[in-house]
Amino acid sequence: VISVTEKIEFIQSVFGAVRVGHDGLNVAAKCPQCVFKDPLKKTSTKKKLIIRVDNDICHCWVCGYSSRSLAPLIAKFGTREQLHEYKTRFRVDEVYTYEKEEATEKQILKLPDDFKLIVLASQSDPTVRSIQRYLKTRMIEDRDIWFYRLGISFEPKWRRRVIIPSFSSKGELNYYVGRTIDERVIPKYDNVAVPKTEIIFNEFNIRWDKTLVISEGPFDMLKCGDNATCLLGSELSEEHKLFEKIILNSTPVVLSLDSDMSDKTERMCRMLKEYDIDVKIVDLEGHHDPGEMTKKQFKFALESATPWEWNSSFRSRLRALAS
Ligand SMILES: [Zn+2]
Repeated sequence: VISVTEKIEFIQSVFGAVRVGHDGLNVAAKCPQCVFKDPLKKTSTKKKLIIRVDNDICHCWVCGYSSRSLAPLIAKFGTREQLHEYKTRFRVDEVYTYEKEEATEKQILKLPDDFKLIVLASQSDPTVRSIQRYLKTRMIEDRDIWFYRLGISFEPKWRRRVIIPSFSSKGELNYYVGRTIDERVIPKYDNVAVPKTEIIFNEFNIRWDKTLVISEGPFDMLKCGDNATCLLGSELSEEHKLFEKIILNSTPVVLSLDSDMSDKTERMCRMLKEYDIDVKIVDLEGHHDPGEMTKKQFKFALESATPWEWNSSFRSRLRALAS
């Protein structure tokens, strides 16, 4: 068991002197983000980064930074040794899991009542047949229809949609989306009302000690090999649980976003690199997204993914100018 005093000592070793609040659980430190952005120290001298010592939720009143873990800030502004000490000694992951459980207890996510795996549905049903045809056109392999537990429902909201469920690290349903099989139907993806910052799509299948492929949508993810997740169209920020996990595990990342998302790719590369994460980019070779490729094509492209370095964006801008 770690005492509050020990924890505060550790926090001081990284963030410098802190002021302890009346409750003894909140401490105020200088925000390293603010110090970094304000080298002349006009506004950054005050202790405006509030850290809850027992669960590491932190928030800066000046720059608005917030996170449920100290890992991102330590990875960016501390030393490798400090990050290691943080991960091993303070077991943030467990504290975090405990917190989450309490918070989500009230509403348990459920699939539609009549949800059925496509492979187990009546194959003579016309809707099932349309869905199977659709999956063929999207080049989804039978093995993956099983592996990702793709399903259907006849409820109005989910009718004629391929339901792609996602499970947490403990195997509990944490999200699902339904992709329409009719091209003119809007929205293309219908989903459940769970904040995207809180979940990691396909978390159950992810191994954090291996390279993780990040794509845009679930249908892209189905092509990206077995260690993959998708952003569900959202940006990746420090507030995402996915981001925290990547930092905590120093997971190497390969980005494979849509070809018209080069700005977003660039932003993500910069951010991950700031936290010392290895990032590579897949060249989709003329395809708009991984979803348009076969798994084999993607695997080939993945093997020749190029590492992103600080001068990469400069070089690609030069190339664009030259052509
Ligand atoms: Zn700040």
